[in-house]
Amino acid sequence: MQLACVTVAGMRAGGVSPAASAAYMPLSRPLVTSASSPLPARRSARLTVHLHEEDLPESVVLTGDIAVDTETMGLDPNRDRLCLVQLSDGGGDEHLVRFACRSDYAAPRLRALLADPARVKLFHFGRFDLAVIERYLGVRAAPAYCTKIASKLVRTYTDRHGLKELARELVGAEISKQQQSSDWGAAELSPAQLDYAASDVRFLHAMRDALDVRLAREGRTELARACFEFLPTRAALDLAGWPEQDIFAHA
Ligand code: MN
Repeated sequence: MQLACVTVAGMRAGGVSPAASAAYMPLSRPLVTSASSPLPARRSARLTVHLHEEDLPESVVLTGDIAVDTETMGLDPNRDRLCLVQLSDGGGDEHLVRFACRSDYAAPRLRALLADPARVKLFHFGRFDLAVIERYLGVRAAPAYCTKIASKLVRTYTDRHGLKELARELVGAEISKQQQSSDWGAAELSPAQLDYAASDVRFLHAMRDALDVRLAREGRTELARACFEFLPTRAALDLAGWPEQDIFAHA
C-alpha cells in the first residue's frame, strides 16, 4: 500500500535538503483536509501531489504514457535553469521533481523514464519542455505528443490554444495560471506553486483523448503524428541556434 503522506526517497550527494520527498494536498481538491493530517490512510494516494528532490524515488512507479511539464527560471533554456519537472501517469497523482540551484541533474530514474521509447510523453507546448529536458537532463523525451499542436490542427475556429483555454473546453477543468510567472528557484515552493505545477500535467491524458477524437474526425491524425515526430528536432533547432527562425520559410 502506498501512503499519501511523506515518503523518503534515496538522496544522492550534493548538498540538497535531506527532506527528499513530501506530499502536498492540491488546493483545488476539497476531499482532503491538510498536508499535516495524521490520518494518511484516509487519504487516497490517488489525490496527492508528491514533491521529490533531485530524482524520482525508487518506490514511485508510473505506468504507461506520462504527462510531463517543466518549470524553469525563464524562457531561454541556455540561460534559465530547470527547476521542476512535473509528471503524471493519468491516475490522479502528480509527482514533482525539484532541482536545486547548481544541481548536477544526475537524476538517473527520471532520465530513464523520460527517455523510455515505449512511453509517449504528453506535453503542452512540448517544444520548450523537450529543449529544456535535453539541455539539462541530456535525454530526448520522445516519443512526444503535444496538446498545443493538436489543438492548432483541429481548433481552427480560435487562436486561443493556451492550456487554460484548452482544459476548459476539452475536459471542463479550471486551471489557474496565477503562479505561472513565479520564482521556481525559491528554496521553498509555496502550496499554490506546487498545486499550479501539478495542475499543468493533471489533465493532459484526458485532453489527448479528446483531441485524438477530433483529429480523427477532421482527418488530421497522420498530420499530427508527423508533427509530433518532428517536435524533438524542432527543440534541437532551438538549442542549436535557430530559436525564432522558421527554416521552412522562403526568406
Ligand atoms: Mn507549467
